[in-house]
Amino acid sequence: MHELSIAMEILEIVEKEALKHGAGAVRKVRLKVGDLSGVETDSLTFSFDAIKGEKKLAGKADLLIQRTPARIRCKPCGADFEGRSGFIVSCPECEGFDTRLLAGDELEIVDIEID
Ligand SMILES: [Zn+2]
Repeated sequence: MHELSIAMEILEIVEKEALKHGAGAVRKVRLKVGDLSGVETDSLTFSFDAIKGEKKLAGKADLLIQRTPARIRCKPCGADFEGRSGFIVSCPECEGFDTRLLAGDELEIVDIEID
C-alpha cells in the first residue's frame, strides 16, 4: 500500500527531527497534501496510527492533514485559478489550455508539535 510507505517515511522524519530538537514527545504532526498528489487522506491517517506505536517519541502523535487544491497558471495571460484532479481546465480569462501546475501535488510536513 502506497500510503503505508508514506506514513513510514513521515514517522522517520518526525522521529529524527524530534530527537534532534531534544523533544520529550511528539504531540501533533501537520501535513499538507495536494489534491493531485494521489494520496488518500483516510488511508494515510489509518496507516500512520497503525504503525506510530513503534516510535519512541512519535508513538502518540496525532496526524493532522490539510488538503490543498491544485493551483494552475495560464502561460499566455498569467491568470491563476483552481484546478481539480482528473480534469483539464481551460483558463477562465482567455479560455486557453496552455497552462502549468503551480501547486497541488505536494506532500510536506508543515510543522511538528513537541513537548
Ligand atoms: Zn489565460
